[in-house]
Amino acid sequence: MKIKDQIRNQKDTRIYQKTKKYLERKKETDIEEKMKVVEKILELKELEKRYSYLYDLICDYLDYEFKEKNICGFDCGLCKRRKDMIARNIQKDTYENGCCHGYLKGKTCEHLEPGKGCKIKNIGCKTFTCFYLRKQGYRYHVKDIYFARYFFNPRQLFYMENTFFVDKPIILEGIMKRR
Ligand code: SF4
Ligand code: SF4
Repeated sequence: MKIKDQIRNQKDTRIYQKTKKYLERKKETDIEEKMKVVEKILELKELEKRYSYLYDLICDYLDYEFKEKNICGFDCGLCKRRKDMIARNIQKDTYENGCCHGYLKGKTCEHLEPGKGCKIKNIGCKTFTCFYLRKQGYRYHVKDIYFARYFFNPRQLFYMENTFFVDKPIILEGIMKRR
């Protein structure tokens, strides 16, 4: 293993302390339980394995969040935004599959499995919310997810949230390049 791929203990200690302070500042509950999630990430000393584990955790967190809160509100293939447009008699953009349907290309993303959802893991797509949802206060950023907040630099965060339609291995490579 290359030396630069190893995580320095000092850096890990800082991540641990900053995360704990962040949770305390936000007056979160179950801080000890939440810190166990961070400890588990810090146990992975090889950087690529750590990023890979974190990537999956972030995806699971966002999937759960969107499902639990029914954020896009899909019903018979139509999301909240499309339904709102239909209700207001605005014909544009009233197609099915929400923003997984490419308006300009006029077809649905190849990664969407009918009746099941997205087949790949893309954090950019998972954090994305349209103008309609943002007006309702729904905005998602990796830095706002407590367990991931201090593990990435700004270049990595920007890259992750602005790269769409490609699967985890490609994004992981990009994350590693932007260290
Ligand atoms: S983000 Fe907006 S446009 Fe995209 S699926 Fe959700 S409600 Fe629909
Ligand atoms: S890659 Fe993005 S646009 Fe394509 S199906 Fe998955 S979530 Fe939808």
